[in-house]
Amino acid sequence: MPTAIEFFKLLPKTNCKDCGQPTCLAFAMLLANQKAKIDDCPHVSQSSKDALEASAAPPVRTVTIGTGKEIRMGGETVLYRHERRFINPIAYALTVSDTCNVTERIGEIKKLSFERVGTVYDIDAVSVRCDSRDPKRFADAVDSAMKIWDRPLILECVPEIIEEALIIASSRRPLIYCADKDNIDIMAALAKKYSCPLAVRDADIEVLADLAERAKELGVNDIVLDTAASNLKECIERHTVVRRCAVKKKFRPFGHPIMDRVGSGEYAIAMAAMSTMKYGSLVILDDLKNYEALPLFTLRQNIYTDPQVPIQVKQGLYPIGGPSEHSPIFFTTNFSLTYFTVRADIERSKMPVWLQIVDTEGLSVLTAYSAGKFTAEHVADALNESNVLSMSDGPVVIPGLVARMSAKLRDLLNRNVVVGTTESRDIPKFLRDLK
Ligand code: SF4
Repeated sequence: MPTAIEFFKLLPKTNCKDCGQPTCLAFAMLLANQKAKIDDCPHVSQSSKDALEASAAPPVRTVTIGTGKEIRMGGETVLYRHERRFINPIAYALTVSDTCNVTERIGEIKKLSFERVGTVYDIDAVSVRCDSRDPKRFADAVDSAMKIWDRPLILECVPEIIEEALIIASSRRPLIYCADKDNIDIMAALAKKYSCPLAVRDADIEVLADLAERAKELGVNDIVLDTAASNLKECIERHTVVRRCAVKKKFRPFGHPIMDRVGSGEYAIAMAAMSTMKYGSLVILDDLKNYEALPLFTLRQNIYTDPQVPIQVKQGLYPIGGPSEHSPIFFTTNFSLTYFTVRADIERSKMPVWLQIVDTEGLSVLTAYSAGKFTAEHVADALNESNVLSMSDGPVVIPGLVARMSAKLRDLLNRNVVVGTTESRDIPKFLRDLK
């Protein structure tokens, strides 16, 4: 991304204010912070616009696999997530061999699904692999996969066999995996003909850069780089070199998403974890058990959370366990971790409760209270907005950490207000005693 000064050099510098800013420099600063679009200045010349758009393109191109339920890869602009944030989470794909029962295999893959902190996690793509060396059998396997899998596909095959499957699947925009130095021209021609993204693979990163350049020369823009890393050391080294060259040096042959093919077993999970942490956009695994998926998905969730924005849930009323007109009314902040912890402890009690979530901009209880975003007035407004006070005559329960707001809240609500627990884990006992 260009700096404000680089943007400024290409603006007309007349300070005419037609963009709504007092000066061209002020407008350039907004552009550099991605808070304005170049089209907001009606006087910028086409040549300047072209130059700005070229230099404003992200150092890593965004590549999409699939249509509808697609995977977006790359588009990253920074090396470290605290600088801005990472944009497109790494995708995990599982292999489906064309020698197996495709329907059964994909049925098993679909079962690998679980919920964590309010988000459902499952497999993002399947990679149909040609083990049969038979074009018809591979095409049939791809056809079967498409009937029961509406998410992105990867076609793992050699050039002399893949085309029959591409005719069937190209409307779904699969990733073609993969071109190497022996087949780059023919694979790139197929990728261009069927408008599909293409993976290029080599362990020598100079050769890898040449392959990406060659694919581009042959008209393929959507390219994914496989560094053929076979261990953790190679994975971190190659990924880091590729991404640093793309982001810091603007080296365009490396300005593409990175992927890995890691096999199965615990070392493969470690490789997938390394790829997740260090710039990978796609990992193909041969197999993944539930207990292996949990740490991997959790790691991805952490890496791709914006560190500058707290994870939040919406303000609103959350009935738990079918509450009645006499059930107690709990409330807490909209910081996700607080919400899910309190909710889990209420559910553990097996007692019906109305849970009111108050918008505190994602801050936790004490932080929000200290920042003046979780006051008795805020709570009263939220309770009145959701109308819960007319749905239940039960007591309003204050989080123990902010017991000091109880008198004020009692005045505002004209209602029985009791002080709850300091620790969420004590909620079940508190509810039993409240009966
Ligand atoms: Fe400068 Fe263009 Fe804004 Fe006028 S409209 S102040 S020329 S950036």
